[in-house]
Amino acid sequence: MPKVFPSGSIAEVPGRAPGDRPGYRWPRRGAPLGPFGPEEERVDRGRLVVASNRLPLALDRDAKGQWQVTPAAGGLVTALQPAMRRRGGVWLGWAGAPGVTATDLRQALEGCSTSSPCDLEPVKMSEEDLDLYYRGFSNEVLWPFFHGLEDHCRPSSGYLDRYRVVNRRFAKMIASTSGTEDFIWVHDYHLLLVARELRALGIRNRIAFFLHTPFPTPERLLRAPWHREILEALGHFDLIGFQSPDDQEKFRTAIDRLGPGKAPNRGSRTGVFPISIDFEAFDSTARSRSVAARAESVRSVAGSAALILGVDRLDYTKGLPHKLRGFRRALREHPELRRNIVLEQLVVPSRDTIGAYQDTKAEIEALVEAINEEWGSADWLPVRYHYGRWSRRELLARYRAADIALVTPLNDGMNLVAKEYCAANGGEGVLILSCHAGAAVELGDVPLLVDPTNEQAVSRAILAAFRMPYGERFKRMAAAREMLRAWDVHRWVAEFLEEGARTR
Ligand code: UDP
Repeated sequence: MPKVFPSGSIAEVPGRAPGDRPGYRWPRRGAPLGPFGPEEERVDRGRLVVASNRLPLALDRDAKGQWQVTPAAGGLVTALQPAMRRRGGVWLGWAGAPGVTATDLRQALEGCSTSSPCDLEPVKMSEEDLDLYYRGFSNEVLWPFFHGLEDHCRPSSGYLDRYRVVNRRFAKMIASTSGTEDFIWVHDYHLLLVARELRALGIRNRIAFFLHTPFPTPERLLRAPWHREILEALGHFDLIGFQSPDDQEKFRTAIDRLGPGKAPNRGSRTGVFPISIDFEAFDSTARSRSVAARAESVRSVAGSAALILGVDRLDYTKGLPHKLRGFRRALREHPELRRNIVLEQLVVPSRDTIGAYQDTKAEIEALVEAINEEWGSADWLPVRYHYGRWSRRELLARYRAADIALVTPLNDGMNLVAKEYCAANGGEGVLILSCHAGAAVELGDVPLLVDPTNEQAVSRAILAAFRMPYGERFKRMAAAREMLRAWDVHRWVAEFLEEGARTR
């Protein structure tokens, strides 16, 4: 195995991130948003080949054995889908059920209302792969580890081996799908070894990687038994993108501490590319008549109470119990909030075959019940809990109707819900946001920042949001919207590809 990344071997991409705080560049007014020049055209000569664990849609057999298509949930898909729709290319990933073939996918898409954003190539996954690579090494080891929640790590024998096997399978699929001019863009913690495997197959294309999660602290990472393999494998990517300067720094420090090794064949570059949303799509659809009408009826259910919205995937990183405890404390400590606030909380099903997720769900539901029992009355239900998914239109109506959004992850690469709320709400909403979300770095003074582990801080933020005067609300939201309009997901993709084209 080649040793890569001797100290000082990684070039840092200068000034690729928005914001005017140290290390960030806030969008200049009137700065051109494109076209992105000859560098990007070099990418455009070939196709864009994207690989992520999941495809943007999932197949499932109904009772009659027919394939049903459902759009996949989650930040990666929401962000990449509009970009792929605009640019075209190929997207490789698992189609949501074991053994789905390209023919199954084509047939399932024929005559169904869900359209594909680009060419899709399903990567086959057996039950055992799902158990060891997906549920196992990806989600019971890397996910909690990268989020700094090692208590949730459940390593087991066979996990890493199968992770290697599935990463190799992805590499083979990518190699057989790509032409020599194509730009290969690999996403997230499931596929950390793919560039190494592609190089072993003789693939010379430019290969880039984007990490959607936070990067772990070097102290912790260097204690993990697999740290060297993963860091060395990352060295085979030409460009490695992170959500925040902090993540980039942690990566560089980990590499430096790895100690001197053999020089890599190629120099990898790292850069900061905070992921974003399709601002125009969220903004314009949220203003449409049908969404406005639905928002009205959502609002009317809350009566004169302020509507607080929570939208989170079921995940222990999202700080859902912390949010509920903060909300309960707000009711206990601030009598003026009683009967005057309602928390609408959507929990989107996710990884529910993993024990830790079932425990989190049970904890959330017990808290909701306890709060409603303690404070509810015949005409006021303090927490309205929904377990399921909302359509895009329903989600936008909820964003628009909510007076306050309460987003409290314990650690989050970005958190797109925070950005979507600002884009869709329009004018007077208040965002309460965890200081541990990547979005907090970008949104700066816009949200009320809280540490979700501090119940009292959450309680106070709810009171402050409830009392915030209209002018202040409007000013904060306008600043968020200006930033999001300038730094949308299309710009994120363009900037990443532009940088990718500069490698080598
Ligand atoms: N979302 C969804 N269906 C829903 C509710 C939410 O697809 O019923 C989307 C939401 O629009 C957002 C994503 O799920 O784009 C959640 O992204 P985020 O970055 O907040 O968290 P992640 O789930 O990626 O950890």
